[in-house]
Amino acid sequence: MSSHQRTQGYVPSAVFQPGSANGAALDAARAAAASTATVAHGPISFASPPPQPVPPRPQDSAASPRAPAQQASLPARRPSLAADPHPRLRTVVLPHATLPRFPAIASVNTVRNMETCGLLLGWEIVKGADTPATRARYVISTLLIPKQHATSDTCAMDEEEGVLSFTEAWGLITIGWIHMHPSQSCFMSSVDLHTHTSFQQMLPESIAVVCAPKSDPDFGIFRLTDPPGLQVVLKCNAKQAFHPHPDVPIYTDADRGHVQMRDAALEIVDLR
Ligand SMILES: [Zn+2]
Repeated sequence: MSSHQRTQGYVPSAVFQPGSANGAALDAARAAAASTATVAHGPISFASPPPQPVPPRPQDSAASPRAPAQQASLPARRPSLAADPHPRLRTVVLPHATLPRFPAIASVNTVRNMETCGLLLGWEIVKGADTPATRARYVISTLLIPKQHATSDTCAMDEEEGVLSFTEAWGLITIGWIHMHPSQSCFMSSVDLHTHTSFQQMLPESIAVVCAPKSDPDFGIFRLTDPPGLQVVLKCNAKQAFHPHPDVPIYTDADRGHVQMRDAALEIVDLR
């Protein structure tokens, strides 16, 4: 755990087991991401609130014109409820391809010392009643790069109506966001934590992916603890963008919880 993580209230999930399926997948993805490591620069600030998602789709994604066939056939394996620290959360599938591809897209900006951010969009697949055995699964299918403006340490979406139009047109929901920490370690800054409250309030399963190619680990998949992290950050009225939070477990690693990395299809949509 880095000092950045400690000062921002990071607490590891208790269910991660080295050598597990998820652990092996993460190792493979990290190796792939490392092969596309980009030039380092400063921290990112995703200043704009995310777009409002459309209501969850009531039926299987097979009804969608853009749903790849393999999404519907993904195996239903998930950690046992006893090992799941957030048993109420439904599984989120994150394609392996996300991690090598986003840093590659961002490299155009990073060589110019500019930040990059993206949105993780997808579907809700309902296979039956919302019982532990048949709970809905969210599948991230699209990495959307919105129009944005950036500096060496900030990045904000422009023309959010364009993002909303896209998600509505294709019936996608916002399942998370991704951004670069090119020269810092893999952690959630105070700005990132505040940004993520908007996502997690809209969808409790929302994830924040941080890519940090100069760090080890070089990416992380995070969520606010709930409680107490989500409530702490929502109540925080700090005026400065970067500020400390109370010394409680504010966020944790979602990849060791409700997120499964799989060889699912990923579409890249660049609105810039
Ligand atoms: Zn705060």
